[in-house]
Amino acid sequence: MGKFDSGYPLMDPNKSFRFTCQQCGNCCRRVANSVMVEGLDLYRLAELLHMDMAEVSRRYTDTVMLAWGTPALVLKVVKPDDACVFLKDNNCSVHPARTRACRMYPMSAVPDETLKDTLIFNVSGEQQHHFNGRWYRARKWIDDNVHTVDQTYVKMECRALLECVPIMNRIPHDREDDVRSQMLRWRFFEFDMDQSFLLQFIDNMEKLKQALEQLTI
Ligand code: SF4
Repeated sequence: MGKFDSGYPLMDPNKSFRFTCQQCGNCCRRVANSVMVEGLDLYRLAELLHMDMAEVSRRYTDTVMLAWGTPALVLKVVKPDDACVFLKDNNCSVHPARTRACRMYPMSAVPDETLKDTLIFNVSGEQQHHFNGRWYRARKWIDDNVHTVDQTYVKMECRALLECVPIMNRIPHDREDDVRSQMLRWRFFEFDMDQSFLLQFIDNMEKLKQALEQLTI
């Protein structure tokens, strides 16, 4: 699999797929450790819920570790069926601020390995009962459900994380907790809710690299 491979089958953006939302809520159940919350998602949830991003994270997300020791946030789930913490009566209680992953479902998009401003599209192979009814062109589905700012953010974050890898490789192993905490701080928590997300994010990625450099000493 590639660096950002979702594991789902590839989808040609010019091809179409059939999809009908059955309003069953099944795609929001059995989602333990699987619904990624990106920085921009957390910012939007914080706006909707009138909390700061750290508070939203504390209440509604868990931290998982990805490749290269990079922490990521995922939505918490509740028993008995590991449903998303925001699923209420088969409806999404944060629908206007649901994550990019949720808005794109059943598709996903990740940067290609060259990071030359191209996204690779995948389509979920799960919940096959959804794949009938109306036809949707993949490219239009993405453009209708994922704003340009999200697509820009995804590419920028992947590029920034790749730039962090060589720095992280120079940090002693006993500083893993410090790496994790700097990664979380600058990607998810150091945002002023009165300012737009993206400009702060660009600034934060530079601060993250500086903070990681400090840990190599
Ligand atoms: S945020 Fe909403 S759409 Fe996404 S998994 Fe949770 S309940 Fe479902």
